[in-house]
Amino acid sequence: PLSPLLPIIARASTHAGRTAVSCAAQNTTYQQLLDQSEGLALRLLDGRDDLGEARVAFLVPPGAGYVASLWAIWRAGGVAAPLSLSATKHELEYTLTDAGVEAVVVADDLAERVAPLCERLGLRRLSPAAAESAIVGPAATLPTVATDRRAMILYTSGTTSRPKGVITTHACIQAQVESLIQAWRWSADDRIPLFLPLHHIHGIINILSCALWAGAQVEAFAWFIREAVLQRVAGGAYTLFMAVPTIYVKLIDWLENAPADQRDAVLGGFAGMRLMVSGSAALPSSVHAQWAELTGQPLLERYGMTEIGMALSNPYDGERRPGAVGRPLPGVEVRLQDESNVVVAQEGSPGEIHVRGPNVFREYWNRPEATAAAFVDGWFRTGDIAVVEDGYYRIMGRSSVDIIKSGGYKLSALEIEACLLNHPAIAECAVVGVPDDKWGERVAAAVVLVDGAELSLDSLREWSEQRISSYKVPRLLRGVDSLPRNAMGKVKKPAVVKLFG
Ligand code: ATP
Ligand code: MG
Repeated sequence: PLSPLLPIIARASTHAGRTAVSCAAQNTTYQQLLDQSEGLALRLLDGRDDLGEARVAFLVPPGAGYVASLWAIWRAGGVAAPLSLSATKHELEYTLTDAGVEAVVVADDLAERVAPLCERLGLRRLSPAAAESAIVGPAATLPTVATDRRAMILYTSGTTSRPKGVITTHACIQAQVESLIQAWRWSADDRIPLFLPLHHIHGIINILSCALWAGAQVEAFAWFIREAVLQRVAGGAYTLFMAVPTIYVKLIDWLENAPADQRDAVLGGFAGMRLMVSGSAALPSSVHAQWAELTGQPLLERYGMTEIGMALSNPYDGERRPGAVGRPLPGVEVRLQDESNVVVAQEGSPGEIHVRGPNVFREYWNRPEATAAAFVDGWFRTGDIAVVEDGYYRIMGRSSVDIIKSGGYKLSALEIEACLLNHPAIAECAVVGVPDDKWGERVAAAVVLVDGAELSLDSLREWSEQRISSYKVPRLLRGVDSLPRNAMGKVKKPAVVKLFG
C-alpha cells in the first residue's frame, strides 16, 4: 500500500515502468524501488504501526539498494540518517550516537563495518536485500506520514567544526527539490551520473532526489571513477552533469593530456549535455573559463548548504557569471545583513546571507542553542558573506574563516585564491588569515605547485601586486604536497591556519 501523503512515493508510482536507477549495467524501475522499499519498510516496522520519527541509519552503496533503504525509512515513518561510506569507525560511532538511531540498514558486504558497533550500542541491524521481504505477511500496512514530520538527518560537512545533524521535514525536502526542478528544468527525459557522496545535500537532494522526483534516470557509481564516468559521457549517456569544483579541475587536467580520439569523444559527450552544474565550494573564474573554452559549456554555479538546500543559482537561460552564484531560487528569499544587523540595501556592500522559505531546515538535532542562535527574526543566518552586483550574488566566503581582517580591511580569501590560481606555478591554493600583533591578521597562502615548478614569496608578491591591491597580497607562503580537504573536496581552513603556526 502506498503512503498517500509522501509526495516522492506518489510521484514514483506515476513513473512505475521506467528505469529509475542503473548501476553496473543493472537497471531498476520505479516500481521495483516501490516494491523493495515497501518490503523493507514492513521489516523495519516489525509489527509496529509507525516508527514515529525514530532515526534509522543506513550504510548502503549508491544504487537501487540505497534508494530502497531511504524510501523504506520514510515509508515506515522514520527519520533517515545516511552514513558515509568512507567514515572511520570513530565517525560512524559519532553519527549513530549523536543521531540516537534505533536501527541500521547495512548492505551485506558492508555489515562487518557496523556489526560490532551495533552490538555494543544495542542497535537492530537489517539488510536491504529484497529477498528477505518475503517473510512479511500480506495484511501489514504502512502508516500515513504527514509532510510536516521529520524526514532526514544530514550531517554538515564539518568544514569549520564538528559536523552538526541537520533535520529536515518531508515538506522541506519537497520545497528544495521542486525549486531545483523548476529552475533547472528537470524532466523525465533526463539522465545523470551520480558519483558524489550520498550523505551530503549535493548528492542526495540535488542529484538523486531531483532525478527521482522528475521520473528521470540516475546512473550510480561507487565514487568518482573517472574512466568509467568518461566512457559513458563519451557515449552520450547523460543530459545533465553535477559536480564539485575539484572534479572539474581533474577533468580539465585529463582533457588537456588525453589522446586526441578519446578526448574528442568525451568532449562530444559534454557538448551534448543540456546543463552542467558546479557547487559545494567556490568555482574559481579561471576554472569556469577553461571549462567553457574546452567544452563550450558555461558551467552553472549555485550556492547552498545542508541547512537550506540550494538558495542561489545562476540562470538556466541568460548570463552565467563566472565568480558569482546568481540570484535567489524559486520560493527562496535571500537578504544580506551587515555587522550592525542592518539589511544591506546597496549593491557592492558586503553582508551575511540570510535565507527564509519552506526549504529551510527544522533544527540542529539535539542542539537547541545552536538552532536558536542560527535564526534571527525567522531568517536563517548562513555565516557566509556575499555582495550583490547587478543582482548577482558573489560569495566572499565564510565569516569565520574566509574573511581576513588585516590592517582595518576585510578581505575575501576566495577572491585572493581565485587570483593566485592564475599563477602558472600554482596548481591549488588556500588563503587564510594568520593572527598577527600588528595587522590583526596577515594574508597567508598555502599552495600546491605545478609539477616541477618553483615559487618564492618575493616573486609571488611581485606577480600579485600587478593584479590585486597590495593589502591583499600574501605575506606568508607555504608549499604543501596537498591541501587538507574533506569528503566533498572542501579545504579545511582551520587545518591550513595550523600550517603557519
Ligand atoms: P560545517 O557547517 O560543518 O562547517 P559545511 O558548511 O562545509 O560544514 P555544507 O553544508 O556541506 O557544510 O556546506 C555549505 C557551505 O559550503 C556554505 O555555507 C558555503 O560556505 C559553501 N558553499 C557552497 N556552495 C558554494 C559556492 N558555490 N561558492 C562558495 N561557497 C559555497
Ligand atoms: Mg556549514
